[in-house]
Amino acid sequence: MEDALQIIQGLGLLALFSLGVLIVQRSKLSLQSPNYRKILSGLLFGVLTAVVMLDPIKLQEGATIDVRAGPAILAGVFAGPVGAAITATIGSLVRWYVVGGPFAFGGVIGFLLYGVFGVAAGLLLKRWGISLRSSVFMALGLLGTIAITPAFFVSADFTTGVAILKKVGVVLTLNNVIGTLIVGLVFHHISQWVNLRNKLDEQQGKLFRLSRIADETSNGVVITGRDGKIEWMNAGFERISGYSLEESIGRVPGSFLQRGDVDPNVVAHMRECVAQLKPFNVVVRNYKKSGTSYWIDINCQPFKDHGGIDRFMAIETDVTEQVETRNELHKALMKAEEADKAKSYFLAGMSHEIRTPLNAIIGFSEMLDIGIGADDPATRSENLKIIASAGKRLDRLLADILDYSKIEADTVELYLENVLPSEVFQEQLPIVQHLLVEKNITFADIQKSDKQIYVDRDRLSQILINFISNAIKYNHEGGSVEFGCRELPDDMLTIYVKDTGIGIAPGSEDVVFEPFSRMRATKREVAGVGIGLSICKKLTEQMGGEIGYESGVGEGSTFWVKFPISFSK
Ligand code: ADP
Repeated sequence: MEDALQIIQGLGLLALFSLGVLIVQRSKLSLQSPNYRKILSGLLFGVLTAVVMLDPIKLQEGATIDVRAGPAILAGVFAGPVGAAITATIGSLVRWYVVGGPFAFGGVIGFLLYGVFGVAAGLLLKRWGISLRSSVFMALGLLGTIAITPAFFVSADFTTGVAILKKVGVVLTLNNVIGTLIVGLVFHHISQWVNLRNKLDEQQGKLFRLSRIADETSNGVVITGRDGKIEWMNAGFERISGYSLEESIGRVPGSFLQRGDVDPNVVAHMRECVAQLKPFNVVVRNYKKSGTSYWIDINCQPFKDHGGIDRFMAIETDVTEQVETRNELHKALMKAEEADKAKSYFLAGMSHEIRTPLNAIIGFSEMLDIGIGADDPATRSENLKIIASAGKRLDRLLADILDYSKIEADTVELYLENVLPSEVFQEQLPIVQHLLVEKNITFADIQKSDKQIYVDRDRLSQILINFISNAIKYNHEGGSVEFGCRELPDDMLTIYVKDTGIGIAPGSEDVVFEPFSRMRATKREVAGVGIGLSICKKLTEQMGGEIGYESGVGEGSTFWVKFPISFSK
């Protein structure tokens, strides 16, 4: 009957204890400071002891037994000296209150011994690294019972003490062993569970912080599987690409972010690295959902996830600005190199241009000096004409160079007035007439217009002379040249010179109007230094017009200028 009571008490104790631990576990505060937890555990064990002591089994001798051993020993093991002291104090007070009498003091000593034993056992278990198992709890109960035997002799003489021990020894030992086992196992498992939860909370906090960082960063972060399909991406990726998570999951990034203009070598390199699980770093052009293109620096690293599965994490940085600046710098460098080449070419061309007439002047004047052909008036006059023409050619060349440098320095003065282009052209025609005849070129003035434009008359004639002399220079023998004006619907007037000459190769648009540039196809023997059209372009633009051409190799060229029609009289 007494044994059954002990078991029921043990079970009750267990239920109560579980409840208490649950409360401790729920208390967030207890999870934060280990000292606080120890104090709380001490209190808990103390209350537990008090509860089980409220209904002790009274012996004839005045002594009592109860199931206090488990909580009292374990307070020392789990909560250390502080916890054990709290438990012992609560237990002692309750003991005094409930039992009182001559055996009260023996009970207090009993508590003390349980507590000291518990603390010592806890230290030894820790030092020897013994993990808490059922057998350890049972041993604690057994040894704890032995440790408190002196307490039986505190309030009773030796014979009475031995008598009490004989009477309750077995029940007490059994009770203590089972009680310590039950309480120990429950407390141990629940505290392990609490530790686990703490760790889990910590991990979750870490994960939360990491995912916040991943979301807040301006970089895109993408996780793909070995098949290259997106499994996860951060908000940064969404911001850069414009594609949402739902739109991207399960797709290979290259299949929707890149287009035909991607470098196949870069794609091949990425594929190879993915196949071999190697990291890679590339810069590629991507396209946003809106269609805008951007440059992205991809830093991709393979990794194994917690399940040991291979995946890739790519950190993507938008480097559009850097790439564009680099490209512009490269273009500027190319342009500078081109300009440098053009200048050298110009100098070479110019010295040739200057030397040819100079040689003629020197040669023919020397001939005159030493008297060759001096007797024949016809030969003499012919030689003098050559000298004069060479002089004029030199003069024109120098005028061109001077003009160009003036335009470059923006010091050209313009006298704007209403001008009828065909009239200006007709005035200039006699100047080129002999060139037309020389090359046997037919000329046609086809489209006429009575519309005026507001420009500098002399500068317009300069432009037109340039167009027509080029149209003759770069034409075939017996070719044709056409001049015309065309009114456009937007109140603009196009003035053009069309030829049937050698034409200009496609892709030369940027070069033709650049100073000192002559097309590769242009023969050296065709006179010119390559600044005529650049002068025309500057002048046209300064007068508020546009310049351009259409051409094809072997198909001839049409050079044109376009000005707004002037409606004022
Ligand atoms: P250039 O003194 O060499 O004629 P321009 O500035 O007038 O210089 O012309 C620049 C270059 O453009 C020429 O060297 C020539 O290669 C090309 N070009 C100009 N006009 C024509 C044309 N009507 N047909 C073919 N090529 C032309």
